[in-house]
Amino acid sequence: MADKSTGIKEKGPSVESKIKDLYEIQRVDSEIDKIRVLRGELPLEVQDLEDELAGLETRVKNFEEEVKELEGAISKKNNEIADAQGMIKKYETQRDNVRNNREYDSLSKEIEFQTLEIQLCEKRIKEFTVRLADKKTMIEDSKSGFEDRKGDLDAKKMELDEIIAETQKEEKNLVASSEEISKRIEDRLLSAYKRIRKNARNGLAVVSVERDACGGCFNRIPPQRQLDIRSRKKIIVCEYCGRVLVDADIMNDKEPEKEPVTESKKVSKKAAKKVTKKVTKKVAAKETKKVAKK
Ligand SMILES: [Zn+2]
Repeated sequence: MADKSTGIKEKGPSVESKIKDLYEIQRVDSEIDKIRVLRGELPLEVQDLEDELAGLETRVKNFEEEVKELEGAISKKNNEIADAQGMIKKYETQRDNVRNNREYDSLSKEIEFQTLEIQLCEKRIKEFTVRLADKKTMIEDSKSGFEDRKGDLDAKKMELDEIIAETQKEEKNLVASSEEISKRIEDRLLSAYKRIRKNARNGLAVVSVERDACGGCFNRIPPQRQLDIRSRKKIIVCEYCGRVLVDADIMNDKEPEKEPVTESKKVSKKAAKKVTKKVTKKVAAKETKKVAKK
């Protein structure tokens, strides 16, 4: 447990371990974020497919409605034909028994009219039949489309179930790990971390220095400040976005950059900015030279 009397400014490895804890909790929390985003997107995809299926179903229903109407219209026209045929028969019988030419002509005209009616009905029936066949084809197509999409939906749902099962376990472990790390972080720092994280669009409260810039807002960080960050002696926040800045090497378990123990006065501040390894090499080379001169 952290000693409450120790503040943020305390020296040495304890600040470094605080920075490491912050970096670590950020890494774990970002993993949790990733899982939650992934799980958030799949239900939306499933929802889209379900909407599409509902649309196809409505389409089929509408077509079936139209088919019914067309079938009704055809049978109505067939009835009209039957009526007209009945009337023609009646008129023909009457015409066989007429008493004068005027009656004969009148009945002939009626028969002619009913015959035309029948032709008209037949023409309409032909049209309706063509439309009916079209609708039936459309229904078949929509139904097979529906089956295809339903297959997609079932697959998506299965995929979602699998991912949920997989990630739930992973998430649970990560949450436990995040809680474990948070216990090591003092309250003030933890609440600052949470506040920054909440306000940051990408959920990043702890970022590393990338190409001389803040990994969160990409503003340039002055060399002296980068040096301070690499020394890991203070918790340093970005002056633009307020995120905690760590050096990119903190994840590799590399030692913080120090001024070399030997020849420290001769090594300029500029040189000190280079990675420890390089400096060490340089010093070693100088030592060798000295030995050679002697
Ligand atoms: Zn920043």
